[in-house]
Amino acid sequence: MITILIGLGWTAAFIQFDRPFLAAMHAGLIAFGIALGWLAYQGRLTGAALLAGLFLPLFIAVSCLFDNVPDGVHRATQIHFLAVALGGYFVFRRGGIYMKYVMPAFCLIGFVIFSNTSIGFHDPDLVIPAEAAEIGVWANTLTAMAELIFVVVIMNADLSTRRMMDIEMRKAIANGDFQLRYQPQINEAGKVVGAEALISWPHAKLGNVPPVKFIPLAEETGLIVPIGNWVLRAACAQLAQWEAEPETRHLTIAVNVSASQFRQPDFVQSVSEIVRLSGVTPSKLKLELTESMFVDNVDATVAKMNALKAIGIIWSLDDFGTGYSSLSVLKSFPLGQIKIDQSFVRDMLTNASNMVVTEAIIELAGKLNLEVIAEGVETVEQLDRLRETGCRTYQGYLFSPPLDIDAFGKFLSPEPSNIEPLSRHLPASPAPDLVVLR
Ligand code: C2E
Ligand code: MG
Ligand code: MG
Repeated sequence: MITILIGLGWTAAFIQFDRPFLAAMHAGLIAFGIALGWLAYQGRLTGAALLAGLFLPLFIAVSCLFDNVPDGVHRATQIHFLAVALGGYFVFRRGGIYMKYVMPAFCLIGFVIFSNTSIGFHDPDLVIPAEAAEIGVWANTLTAMAELIFVVVIMNADLSTRRMMDIEMRKAIANGDFQLRYQPQINEAGKVVGAEALISWPHAKLGNVPPVKFIPLAEETGLIVPIGNWVLRAACAQLAQWEAEPETRHLTIAVNVSASQFRQPDFVQSVSEIVRLSGVTPSKLKLELTESMFVDNVDATVAKMNALKAIGIIWSLDDFGTGYSSLSVLKSFPLGQIKIDQSFVRDMLTNASNMVVTEAIIELAGKLNLEVIAEGVETVEQLDRLRETGCRTYQGYLFSPPLDIDAFGKFLSPEPSNIEPLSRHLPASPAPDLVVLR
């Protein structure tokens, strides 16, 4: 909104003073603001933030170079650098070094240089009348100050929300408010072979808080350790119940493990202890890691994974294909399963290169003796294509969303009135128990 408004104001002013080059340049800012708005509307906030973080410092620098003020008037465009530096640091504080440090540093250096020098392209044709330039200086200073205040207000609001969420999470841990939901994992014959345990947080005032809203914060504050241990204990207790019944004895449970939870020095010990105390067969437990955990400390990571693999626990690589690691991850780490990320499954029918990558992953996994499961399977077409490419296990809304334990029980042994056979989804020899819940 701010870029659009500033772009509109300056474009109008430069049209008024018959400076078409400068007007066109600022019209670009309007287009850029619209593009950002469109990305944000689509929910692509990371893309929007990256684009803004890369484009805005460049645009301000170029604007400073073309800021041809008349004699006696000083340049003020560089003040915009301050809000971008602060906002950039805030938005990318958990990101990579470039966006977190280099980009804000570039902005601050730009501010200092353009404030203290007259460096730029001096073209008499671009100079606007002194009275208008004076107004421009005021406008630039005031809008830049408004931007700074805006950033500080957002930072403050974010801090309050995080503090509130932190308190609420501590209360939820103390009161035992978190719940586990189980999303069925289905094999090619249509049988439920296990479930992924997904945490959910029903909150009296905030409603159902999705994990993406609180897990990253719990990671930062360290609360992920008690939360993660609770998830493991609850999942193992469920496994123990399933193991006690002949109809559910075969089921496995996959549990998500966060990076900071995995990095705890006593991670191996606490997982082994929970598994040992629950008495479950360790090979029924799968621990899901993401590629980002394989980036540094490779030896320590492999050692931890091997220690838990030695007692029978299976490692699964979640969201495979979304990270930056190479395929060598598949042979360097003691994995038992990979989960093809939902984004590949979603686009595989429309995006040829996604299809090629998915096929290659499935083939490579087969050669490395890794089990492959596709997540986010939503349509019969996706299921058919995955089956054709050799993927044998699936998870997704096509079969079922994550369910509370009672609903999961019903899913396993549905009453006839509640089910609709998925006969149209079945392979050539239909399996009798592949069902969807109505
Ligand atoms: P994930 O491990 O990749 O889990 C899959 C997510 O995709 C779940 O979202 C699930 O509800 C959703 N999903 C399943 N099938 C479909 C489908 O067909 N289409 C679409 N669009 N989505 C589908 P959820 O429960 O919101 O969890 C999000 C993420 O939060 C998880 O991604 C996982 O990274 C994290 N998470 C969940 N529970 C835990 C936990 O206990 N511990 C940790 N550390 N992280 C957790
Ligand atoms: Mg997962
Ligand atoms: Mg996943």
